[in-house]
Amino acid sequence: MIVAIDGPAGAGKSSASRLLAARLGLALVDTGALYRCVALAARDQGVAWDDDARLAGLVPTLALSFGWRGGEPRVYLGGRDVTAAIRDPEISRGASTASARRSVRDGLFDLQRRLGREAPGGAVLEGRDIGTVVFPDADAKFFLTADPRVRAGRRLAELVGRGVATTLAAVLTEQEQRDHDDENRAVAPLRRAPDAEPIDTTALSLDEVVATMERSLRRRGLIP
Ligand code: C5P
Repeated sequence: MIVAIDGPAGAGKSSASRLLAARLGLALVDTGALYRCVALAARDQGVAWDDDARLAGLVPTLALSFGWRGGEPRVYLGGRDVTAAIRDPEISRGASTASARRSVRDGLFDLQRRLGREAPGGAVLEGRDIGTVVFPDADAKFFLTADPRVRAGRRLAELVGRGVATTLAAVLTEQEQRDHDDENRAVAPLRRAPDAEPIDTTALSLDEVVATMERSLRRRGLIP
């Protein structure tokens, strides 16, 4: 079973995907983390985030994988645990820039398909274009949204929790820029697949979001 969860930053995709995957015993594929790893590797190797020629050469060389440690999902780049490093605001900007490049999207396409297909029992994939491009044939698709200020508030709490000094205004400005870039890029722009179920998470708890998804999967006979 493939479950596609898309939506803008801060809509609650990560938490919901994680809980849904755990409840259903499915693998979890955070595709944003893959774009973030590309941005991190590019920076470390002195490759500009918009240099298509060098990015096209770089992406296939990256050993990207997911794992768990202490009940927490981890991201590995060439064996190095980069879970924290890829959340840095600089890398968020880099991921946004690099993800608009066809070289990067094409380079990550097969990996995403493979991570979904090879997961025993199936996978929950979260991102921006899972239901539209990566798995247009997904068994179930959800598109999460939320009020922009609520999304920024969630991002702020996450950043402050990790010791990053920032403000709601700064997060909101950055978020607007990223939303704009993600929605308007020529390649795989962020949009809801026509057959994706919209869920507005503004006033919902994490449990309510996941319960909504489970009800939908049950209605369609995908889970008991
Ligand atoms: O979801 P997250 O914020 O970690 O994603 C980082 C960046 O990667 C996003 O700003 C977005 O531009 C890009 N992305 C994408 N397609 C995906 C997942 C993420 O373009 N499927």
